[in-house]
Amino acid sequence: MDTIKILKGDIAFTKSPDEVTTYKNGYLVIKDKKILGIYETIPESFQKISIDDYTDQLIIPGFVDLHVHAPQLDQVGLGLDKELMDWLDVYTFKLESRFQDMDYAKEVYNRFVDQLANNGTTRSCIFATIHKESTQLLFERLKEKGLGAYVGKVNMDANGAKYLQESTKESIEDTREIILKYSNDPLVKPIITPRFAPNCTRALLKALGQLANQHNVPVQSHLSENKKEIQWVKKLFPEATSYGDVYNHYGLFGQTPTLMAHGIYLEEEELKLLEKQDVTIVHCPDSNMNIASGMMPARRYLDRGIKIGLGSDVGGGHLLSMSQTIVRAIQNSKMLQTLTGEKALTMSEAFYMATKGGGKFFGKVGSFETGYTFDGLIIDDEKWTKERLTIEERLNRFIYVGDDRNIIIRYINGVDINLK
Ligand SMILES: [Zn+2]
Repeated sequence: MDTIKILKGDIAFTKSPDEVTTYKNGYLVIKDKKILGIYETIPESFQKISIDDYTDQLIIPGFVDLHVHAPQLDQVGLGLDKELMDWLDVYTFKLESRFQDMDYAKEVYNRFVDQLANNGTTRSCIFATIHKESTQLLFERLKEKGLGAYVGKVNMDANGAKYLQESTKESIEDTREIILKYSNDPLVKPIITPRFAPNCTRALLKALGQLANQHNVPVQSHLSENKKEIQWVKKLFPEATSYGDVYNHYGLFGQTPTLMAHGIYLEEEELKLLEKQDVTIVHCPDSNMNIASGMMPARRYLDRGIKIGLGSDVGGGHLLSMSQTIVRAIQNSKMLQTLTGEKALTMSEAFYMATKGGGKFFGKVGSFETGYTFDGLIIDDEKWTKERLTIEERLNRFIYVGDDRNIIIRYINGVDINLK
């Protein structure tokens, strides 16, 4: 039997980066978890169906975080006087080594998943750690909560620390086990996750590329985040023509759907490769500022038609809030504008990146167009804004100064997860 759900409210979403589409107290009709249409009055055939009435409240798509490290939740705000390589060595690797302890992992991952949901992040692409058992705990917790995610057991068999490194064999076998166990889950799926090229031997990269191909699993990693990191990659892989070419050589650069976080200093040849292979770049502005990595030229990539989404990159980033990540992406682009004259990002462009742009990685997600899976947030904004502002202006206000307290309901895959 078809299940029909009707929601009434002030609807806002982006079909394209150029503009926000709005409906004043429109009726959003959902059939079998997918959007059937938005109507100004209820069509006759649906008049007997009860309505979830959110009159004068905003209904917007759920947020998509394309790059976040769950184990780094407790590192937020710490060690940010360091740059990437020292930050990893001094803080991050020690912290991540604790995830062999299941009690500790459970405590942190429970908080992580709750905070993700509170912030209205309905879909995310997550790095766990190298530890197979606690990574599975994260899968289970996300499933229980009803969130959509790709979760990666991190692979690292080189240049880690004595307390955070695995053998090549172990890394491959544990990754395969997780792929086999979770690939058929409808909402929380595995993703192949080499931490970054310097943490992987050629043998491991090769095996991961083969696993991605055999099981048709997507890939996520880091690319061109910090100048010292790029020099190191060139030294470690002199045979490669660019940082991106290292991944490409091993089938980890768009051969299956691929996310690459940061991409700040991409060379022209690398950009062409990335375009050809349809790799998605994840812009993580908070992290780029916090550990002084650089200013990512999001406008340039967007104008070239490169796929681009947003990531909180906690704990390089200090907030799981994707609305604040949108703000930071806009602010970063304005600083770049003062230096290069490139046009800054608009609100609709940045909002698009955090909803439909990032949502593409999950299929038809992140918009309210017909056929899209319904992931939505109900936002109760301030009374005066409802009275005096347009829906688009209210969306801007919520993005800049709203927070999780304004999000009263979260729907994922057509289900209200607050009821769980
Ligand atoms: Zn990262």
